[in-house]
Amino acid sequence: MPQTVLLTGVTGFIARHIAVKLINAGYAVRGTLRDPARAEEVRDAIRPELLKEDLPEQRLSFVTLDLARDDGWMEALMGVDVLMHTASPFPLAQPGDEEELIRPAVDGTRRALEAARAAGVKRVIMTSSTAAITSGAAPEGRPFDERDWSDLDHPVTTPYNKSKTLAEQAAWDFVTENPEMELTVINPGFVLGTPLGDDWNTSVQVIERIVRSKDPMLPQFGFMTVDVGDVAEMHLRALERPETAGKRYLAVAEFLWYTEMAEAIAHALPERKITTRRAPNWVVRILALLDPSVRQIVPTLDRRDMASNERAMAEMEMTFRPARDAVIDTAKAVIEAGRAG
Ligand code: NDP
Repeated sequence: MPQTVLLTGVTGFIARHIAVKLINAGYAVRGTLRDPARAEEVRDAIRPELLKEDLPEQRLSFVTLDLARDDGWMEALMGVDVLMHTASPFPLAQPGDEEELIRPAVDGTRRALEAARAAGVKRVIMTSSTAAITSGAAPEGRPFDERDWSDLDHPVTTPYNKSKTLAEQAAWDFVTENPEMELTVINPGFVLGTPLGDDWNTSVQVIERIVRSKDPMLPQFGFMTVDVGDVAEMHLRALERPETAGKRYLAVAEFLWYTEMAEAIAHALPERKITTRRAPNWVVRILALLDPSVRQIVPTLDRRDMASNERAMAEMEMTFRPARDAVIDTAKAVIEAGRAG
Protein backbone atom coordinates (compact mmCIF):
# COMPACT_ATOMS: atom_id res chain seq x y z
CA MET A 1 0.00 0.00 0.00
CA PRO A 2 1.48 3.38 -0.92
CA GLN A 3 1.51 6.08 1.75
CA THR A 4 -1.31 8.58 1.34
CA VAL A 5 -0.65 12.32 1.46
CA LEU A 6 -3.50 14.77 2.01
CA LEU A 7 -2.47 17.73 -0.18
CA THR A 8 -4.52 20.85 0.56
CA GLY A 9 -5.18 23.28 -2.31
CA VAL A 10 -4.44 20.78 -5.10
CA THR A 11 -5.82 23.25 -7.68
CA GLY A 12 -2.88 25.58 -6.92
CA PHE A 13 0.18 26.33 -9.06
CA ILE A 14 2.67 24.87 -6.57
CA ALA A 15 0.44 22.03 -5.33
CA ARG A 16 -0.02 20.61 -8.84
CA HIS A 17 3.76 20.29 -9.12
CA ILE A 18 3.91 18.74 -5.66
CA ALA A 19 1.23 16.22 -6.67
CA VAL A 20 3.33 15.22 -9.69
CA LYS A 21 6.45 14.70 -7.53
CA LEU A 22 4.52 12.70 -4.95
CA ILE A 23 2.77 10.44 -7.45
CA ASN A 24 6.00 9.86 -9.39
CA ALA A 25 7.71 8.95 -6.09
CA GLY A 26 5.04 6.31 -5.40
CA TYR A 27 2.70 8.13 -3.00
CA ALA A 28 -1.06 8.30 -3.26
CA VAL A 29 -2.39 11.86 -3.22
CA ARG A 30 -5.73 12.92 -1.79
CA GLY A 31 -6.10 16.48 -3.00
CA THR A 32 -8.43 19.01 -1.42
CA LEU A 33 -10.34 21.51 -3.50
CA ARG A 34 -13.14 23.96 -2.89
CA ASP A 35 -15.01 23.20 -6.09
CA PRO A 36 -15.40 19.46 -6.84
CA ALA A 37 -16.10 20.30 -10.50
CA ARG A 38 -12.38 21.12 -10.87
CA ALA A 39 -11.15 17.60 -10.17
CA GLU A 40 -10.93 16.59 -13.85
CA GLU A 41 -9.11 19.82 -14.76
CA VAL A 42 -6.44 19.03 -12.16
CA ARG A 43 -6.22 15.38 -13.22
CA ASP A 44 -5.78 16.40 -16.88
CA ALA A 45 -3.12 18.99 -15.99
CA ILE A 46 -1.09 16.53 -13.94
CA ARG A 47 -1.34 13.42 -16.13
CA PRO A 48 1.17 14.42 -18.86
CA GLU A 49 3.88 14.97 -16.23
CA LEU A 50 3.63 11.49 -14.76
CA LEU A 51 6.17 8.76 -15.34
CA LYS A 52 3.28 6.35 -15.83
CA GLU A 53 0.45 8.01 -17.70
CA ASP A 54 -2.29 5.87 -16.22
CA LEU A 55 -3.63 7.64 -13.16
CA PRO A 56 -5.99 5.40 -11.26
CA GLU A 57 -8.31 6.79 -8.62
CA GLN A 58 -6.20 5.25 -5.84
CA ARG A 59 -3.18 7.40 -6.85
CA LEU A 60 -5.04 10.71 -7.15
CA SER A 61 -8.36 11.29 -5.45
CA PHE A 62 -10.14 14.43 -4.33
CA VAL A 63 -12.06 15.72 -1.34
CA THR A 64 -13.99 18.97 -1.08
CA LEU A 65 -12.86 21.28 1.73
CA ASP A 66 -12.75 24.97 2.50
CA LEU A 67 -10.19 26.52 4.83
CA ALA A 68 -12.95 28.67 6.26
CA ARG A 69 -15.39 25.85 7.10
CA ASP A 70 -15.25 22.89 9.45
CA ASP A 71 -17.13 20.46 7.18
CA GLY A 72 -15.27 17.44 5.90
CA TRP A 73 -11.82 17.86 7.48
CA MET A 74 -12.04 14.89 9.83
CA GLU A 75 -13.23 12.51 7.11
CA ALA A 76 -10.58 13.83 4.71
CA LEU A 77 -7.75 12.98 7.09
CA MET A 78 -8.93 9.47 7.95
CA GLY A 79 -6.48 6.87 6.67
CA VAL A 80 -3.92 9.53 5.70
CA ASP A 81 -0.20 9.17 6.54
CA VAL A 82 0.99 12.72 5.89
CA LEU A 83 -0.62 16.17 5.78
CA MET A 84 0.90 18.53 3.20
CA HIS A 85 -0.72 21.91 3.72
CA THR A 86 -0.28 24.36 0.85
CA ALA A 87 -3.71 26.03 0.57
CA SER A 88 -3.82 29.71 1.49
CA PRO A 89 -5.31 32.76 -0.21
CA PHE A 90 -2.73 34.49 -2.43
CA PRO A 91 -4.32 37.42 -4.31
CA LEU A 92 -2.59 39.87 -6.67
CA ALA A 93 -4.08 42.93 -4.96
CA GLN A 94 -4.37 43.23 -1.19
CA PRO A 95 -7.93 43.42 0.19
CA GLY A 96 -9.17 46.43 2.15
CA ASP A 97 -9.91 44.16 5.11
CA GLU A 98 -6.77 42.18 6.01
CA GLU A 99 -8.89 39.63 7.86
CA GLU A 100 -10.07 38.33 4.46
CA LEU A 101 -6.61 36.79 4.11
CA ILE A 102 -5.60 36.27 7.71
CA ARG A 103 -8.69 34.39 8.85
CA PRO A 104 -8.71 31.61 6.22
CA ALA A 105 -4.91 31.27 6.40
CA VAL A 106 -4.71 30.98 10.19
CA ASP A 107 -8.01 29.24 10.91
CA GLY A 108 -7.49 26.93 7.92
CA THR A 109 -4.05 25.93 9.22
CA ARG A 110 -5.50 25.21 12.66
CA ARG A 111 -8.39 23.23 11.12
CA ALA A 112 -6.00 21.12 9.06
CA LEU A 113 -3.71 20.43 12.02
CA GLU A 114 -6.55 19.74 14.45
CA ALA A 115 -8.11 17.24 12.05
CA ALA A 116 -4.70 15.63 11.47
CA ARG A 117 -4.14 15.29 15.22
CA ALA A 118 -7.60 13.78 15.73
CA ALA A 119 -7.00 11.31 12.88
CA GLY A 120 -3.60 10.31 14.28
CA VAL A 121 -1.62 11.88 11.41
CA LYS A 122 1.73 12.84 12.90
CA ARG A 123 3.75 14.09 9.94
CA VAL A 124 3.01 17.53 8.53
CA ILE A 125 4.72 19.56 5.79
CA MET A 126 3.50 23.13 5.39
CA THR A 127 4.05 25.72 2.65
CA SER A 128 4.80 29.03 4.28
CA SER A 129 6.72 31.80 2.49
CA THR A 130 9.58 34.25 2.62
CA ALA A 131 6.68 36.57 3.47
CA ALA A 132 6.93 35.08 6.97
CA ILE A 133 10.67 35.81 7.15
CA THR A 134 11.79 38.89 5.23
CA SER A 135 9.09 41.52 5.90
CA GLY A 136 11.08 43.62 8.30
CA ALA A 137 14.42 45.27 8.92
CA ALA A 138 17.22 43.32 7.24
CA PRO A 139 19.59 41.60 9.69
CA GLU A 140 23.01 43.24 10.08
CA GLY A 141 25.80 41.75 8.04
CA ARG A 142 24.03 38.62 6.78
CA PRO A 143 21.13 37.63 4.53
CA PHE A 144 17.76 36.70 6.02
CA ASP A 145 17.63 33.07 7.07
CA GLU A 146 15.40 30.63 8.93
CA ARG A 147 16.04 32.38 12.29
CA ASP A 148 14.16 35.46 11.13
CA TRP A 149 10.49 36.29 11.42
CA SER A 150 8.59 39.05 9.67
CA ASP A 151 7.68 42.10 11.71
CA LEU A 152 3.90 42.52 11.59
CA ASP A 153 4.18 46.28 12.20
CA HIS A 154 6.83 47.05 9.56
CA PRO A 155 5.71 49.24 6.61
CA VAL A 156 6.62 46.53 4.04
CA THR A 157 4.32 44.00 5.71
CA THR A 158 1.17 43.50 3.64
CA PRO A 159 -1.99 41.68 4.75
CA TYR A 160 -0.70 38.68 2.75
CA ASN A 161 2.65 38.78 4.61
CA LYS A 162 0.73 38.91 7.89
CA SER A 163 -1.47 35.99 6.86
CA LYS A 164 1.55 33.82 6.07
CA THR A 165 3.44 34.83 9.22
CA LEU A 166 0.50 34.26 11.54
CA ALA A 167 -0.46 30.97 9.85
CA GLU A 168 3.08 29.61 10.18
CA GLN A 169 3.26 30.75 13.81
CA ALA A 170 -0.07 29.04 14.47
CA ALA A 171 1.36 25.80 13.06
CA TRP A 172 4.48 25.96 15.25
CA ASP A 173 2.34 26.77 18.31
CA PHE A 174 0.11 23.78 17.50
CA VAL A 175 2.99 21.30 17.36
CA THR A 176 4.48 22.75 20.55
CA GLU A 177 1.18 21.91 22.26
CA ASN A 178 1.03 18.51 20.50
CA PRO A 179 4.62 17.27 20.60
CA GLU A 180 3.75 13.92 19.01
CA MET A 181 3.30 15.82 15.71
CA GLU A 182 6.28 16.53 13.44
CA LEU A 183 6.24 19.67 11.31
CA THR A 184 8.57 20.78 8.52
CA VAL A 185 7.93 24.18 6.92
CA ILE A 186 9.02 25.23 3.43
CA ASN A 187 9.41 29.01 2.93
CA PRO A 188 9.53 29.72 -0.82
CA GLY A 189 10.45 33.04 -2.35
CA PHE A 190 8.73 34.24 -5.52
CA VAL A 191 7.83 31.01 -7.31
CA LEU A 192 7.96 30.84 -11.11
CA GLY A 193 8.09 28.14 -13.77
CA THR A 194 5.77 26.32 -16.11
CA PRO A 195 2.20 26.23 -14.79
CA LEU A 196 0.37 22.92 -15.22
CA GLY A 197 -2.93 23.87 -16.81
CA ASP A 198 -4.18 27.38 -17.37
CA ASP A 199 -5.52 28.52 -14.00
CA TRP A 200 -2.74 30.95 -13.17
CA ASN A 201 -1.74 32.15 -9.77
CA THR A 202 -0.45 35.55 -8.72
CA SER A 203 3.27 34.99 -9.39
CA VAL A 204 2.62 33.75 -12.95
CA GLN A 205 0.33 36.74 -13.56
CA VAL A 206 3.19 39.07 -12.56
CA ILE A 207 5.26 37.63 -15.44
CA GLU A 208 2.21 37.75 -17.73
CA ARG A 209 2.25 41.55 -17.19
CA ILE A 210 5.82 41.71 -18.52
CA VAL A 211 5.11 39.47 -21.53
CA ARG A 212 2.06 41.53 -22.45
CA SER A 213 4.09 44.73 -21.94
CA LYS A 214 1.17 45.89 -19.84
CA ASP A 215 3.27 48.52 -18.06
CA PRO A 216 5.25 51.14 -20.05
CA MET A 217 7.91 51.17 -17.32
CA LEU A 218 8.74 48.75 -14.52
CA PRO A 219 8.98 49.62 -10.84
CA GLN A 220 12.25 48.95 -9.01
CA PHE A 221 11.14 46.08 -6.84
CA GLY A 222 12.28 42.48 -6.77
CA PHE A 223 12.20 39.15 -5.04
CA MET A 224 14.25 36.16 -4.06
CA THR A 225 12.99 33.90 -6.86
CA VAL A 226 12.83 30.13 -7.22
CA ASP A 227 11.69 27.51 -9.71
CA VAL A 228 8.41 25.73 -8.91
CA GLY A 229 10.00 22.32 -9.56
CA ASP A 230 12.59 23.01 -6.85
CA VAL A 231 9.88 24.09 -4.41
CA ALA A 232 7.91 20.91 -5.10
CA GLU A 233 11.07 18.81 -4.75
CA MET A 234 11.71 20.34 -1.32
CA HIS A 235 8.25 19.28 -0.16
CA LEU A 236 9.04 15.72 -1.24
CA ARG A 237 12.49 15.74 0.37
CA ALA A 238 11.04 17.13 3.60
CA LEU A 239 8.68 14.19 3.67
CA GLU A 240 11.39 11.64 2.92
CA ARG A 241 13.87 13.04 5.46
CA PRO A 242 12.47 12.73 8.99
CA GLU A 243 15.44 14.75 10.29
CA THR A 244 13.92 17.88 8.70
CA ALA A 245 11.10 17.79 11.29
CA GLY A 246 11.03 20.79 13.59
CA LYS A 247 12.70 23.07 11.04
CA ARG A 248 11.88 25.67 8.41
CA TYR A 249 13.65 25.72 5.04
CA LEU A 250 13.97 28.70 2.74
CA ALA A 251 13.32 27.75 -0.91
CA VAL A 252 15.11 30.50 -2.83
CA ALA A 253 17.57 30.59 -5.72
CA GLU A 254 18.56 34.23 -6.31
CA PHE A 255 17.31 37.79 -6.07
CA LEU A 256 16.00 39.35 -9.29
CA TRP A 257 14.74 42.87 -9.81
CA TYR A 258 11.56 43.06 -11.87
CA THR A 259 13.59 44.79 -14.60
CA GLU A 260 16.04 41.87 -14.59
CA MET A 261 13.15 39.46 -15.11
CA ALA A 262 12.03 41.56 -18.09
CA GLU A 263 15.59 41.66 -19.47
CA ALA A 264 15.87 37.87 -19.21
CA ILE A 265 12.62 37.48 -21.17
CA ALA A 266 13.65 40.10 -23.75
CA HIS A 267 16.96 38.29 -24.25
CA ALA A 268 15.37 34.82 -24.56
CA LEU A 269 12.51 35.98 -26.81
CA PRO A 270 14.05 38.72 -29.01
CA GLU A 271 11.14 38.52 -31.46
CA ARG A 272 8.84 40.04 -28.83
CA LYS A 273 8.94 43.69 -27.83
CA ILE A 274 9.40 43.50 -24.07
CA THR A 275 9.52 46.65 -22.00
CA THR A 276 12.56 46.69 -19.72
CA ARG A 277 12.68 50.39 -18.83
CA ARG A 278 12.77 51.21 -15.13
CA ALA A 279 10.14 53.57 -13.72
CA PRO A 280 11.44 56.32 -11.47
CA ASN A 281 10.16 55.80 -7.93
CA TRP A 282 8.20 59.07 -7.96
CA VAL A 283 6.18 57.82 -10.94
CA VAL A 284 5.34 54.61 -9.07
CA ARG A 285 4.25 56.67 -6.03
CA ILE A 286 1.85 58.69 -8.17
CA LEU A 287 0.44 55.58 -9.86
CA ALA A 288 -0.04 54.05 -6.42
CA LEU A 289 -2.58 56.76 -5.62
CA LEU A 290 -4.83 55.26 -8.31
CA ASP A 291 -4.00 51.54 -8.32
CA PRO A 292 -4.05 49.37 -5.16
CA SER A 293 -1.89 46.66 -6.79
CA VAL A 294 0.83 49.33 -7.29
CA ARG A 295 0.30 50.74 -3.78
CA GLN A 296 1.51 47.53 -2.14
CA ILE A 297 4.83 47.81 -4.01
CA VAL A 298 5.74 51.31 -2.80
CA PRO A 299 7.28 50.35 0.58
CA THR A 300 9.43 47.72 -1.17
CA LEU A 301 10.92 50.04 -3.82
CA ASP A 302 14.74 49.65 -3.94
CA ARG A 303 14.64 46.92 -1.25
CA ARG A 304 16.99 44.08 -2.06
CA ASP A 305 16.09 41.47 0.54
CA MET A 306 18.65 38.72 0.28
CA ALA A 307 17.80 35.34 1.83
CA SER A 308 19.98 32.28 2.27
CA ASN A 309 19.36 28.84 0.81
CA GLU A 310 22.27 27.28 2.67
CA ARG A 311 20.14 25.11 4.94
CA ALA A 312 18.23 23.59 2.00
CA MET A 313 21.49 22.91 0.18
CA ALA A 314 23.25 21.42 3.22
CA GLU A 315 20.44 19.38 4.75
CA MET A 316 18.24 18.52 1.75
CA GLU A 317 21.09 18.40 -0.79
CA MET A 318 19.16 20.82 -2.98
CA THR A 319 20.69 22.49 -6.01
CA PHE A 320 18.58 25.32 -7.37
CA ARG A 321 17.79 26.07 -11.01
CA PRO A 322 18.85 29.56 -12.07
CA ALA A 323 15.96 31.93 -11.33
CA ARG A 324 16.18 33.43 -14.83
CA ASP A 325 15.36 30.01 -16.33
CA ALA A 326 12.19 29.89 -14.23
CA VAL A 327 11.28 33.39 -15.43
CA ILE A 328 11.78 32.37 -19.08
CA ASP A 329 9.78 29.14 -18.65
CA THR A 330 6.91 31.19 -17.24
CA ALA A 331 7.04 33.66 -20.13
CA LYS A 332 7.07 30.85 -22.69
CA ALA A 333 4.04 29.26 -21.01
CA VAL A 334 2.18 32.57 -21.23
CA ILE A 335 2.93 32.76 -24.95
CA GLU A 336 2.09 29.10 -25.62
CA ALA A 337 -1.26 29.57 -23.89
CA GLY A 338 -2.02 32.40 -26.31
CA ARG A 339 -2.22 34.93 -23.49
CA ALA A 340 0.65 37.17 -24.57
CA GLY A 341 -1.60 39.69 -26.30
P1 NDP B 1 -2.48 29.42 -5.95
O1 NDP B 1 -3.33 30.63 -5.83
O2 NDP B 1 -2.30 28.79 -7.27
O3 NDP B 1 -2.93 28.33 -4.92
C1 NDP B 1 -3.59 28.65 -3.73
C2 NDP B 1 -4.40 27.44 -3.32
O4 NDP B 1 -5.04 27.72 -2.06
C3 NDP B 1 -5.51 27.13 -4.33
O5 NDP B 1 -5.62 25.74 -4.43
C4 NDP B 1 -6.74 27.72 -3.66
O6 NDP B 1 -7.95 27.07 -4.02
C5 NDP B 1 -6.42 27.43 -2.21
N1 NDP B 1 -7.25 28.26 -1.34
C6 NDP B 1 -7.25 29.59 -1.22
N2 NDP B 1 -8.20 29.98 -0.34
C7 NDP B 1 -8.81 28.85 0.09
C8 NDP B 1 -9.87 28.54 0.99
N3 NDP B 1 -10.53 29.50 1.65
N4 NDP B 1 -10.22 27.24 1.17
C9 NDP B 1 -9.58 26.26 0.52
N5 NDP B 1 -8.57 26.47 -0.34
C10 NDP B 1 -8.21 27.74 -0.55
O7 NDP B 1 -1.07 29.88 -5.38
P2 NDP B 1 0.33 29.13 -5.22
O8 NDP B 1 0.31 27.77 -5.74
O9 NDP B 1 1.34 30.08 -5.70
O10 NDP B 1 0.43 29.10 -3.63
C11 NDP B 1 0.39 27.90 -2.88
C12 NDP B 1 0.99 28.17 -1.53
O11 NDP B 1 2.32 28.62 -1.69
C13 NDP B 1 0.25 29.25 -0.73
O12 NDP B 1 0.30 28.87 0.63
C14 NDP B 1 1.12 30.47 -0.95
O13 NDP B 1 1.00 31.40 0.11
C15 NDP B 1 2.51 29.84 -0.98
N6 NDP B 1 3.54 30.61 -1.63
C16 NDP B 1 3.43 30.96 -2.96
C17 NDP B 1 4.45 31.69 -3.56
C18 NDP B 1 4.44 32.06 -5.01
O14 NDP B 1 5.24 32.91 -5.44
N7 NDP B 1 3.59 31.48 -5.83
C19 NDP B 1 5.60 32.13 -2.78
C20 NDP B 1 5.63 31.67 -1.41
C21 NDP B 1 4.63 30.94 -0.88
P3 NDP B 1 -8.89 27.60 -5.21
O15 NDP B 1 -8.27 27.09 -6.48
O16 NDP B 1 -10.21 27.02 -4.89
O17 NDP B 1 -8.86 29.11 -5.13
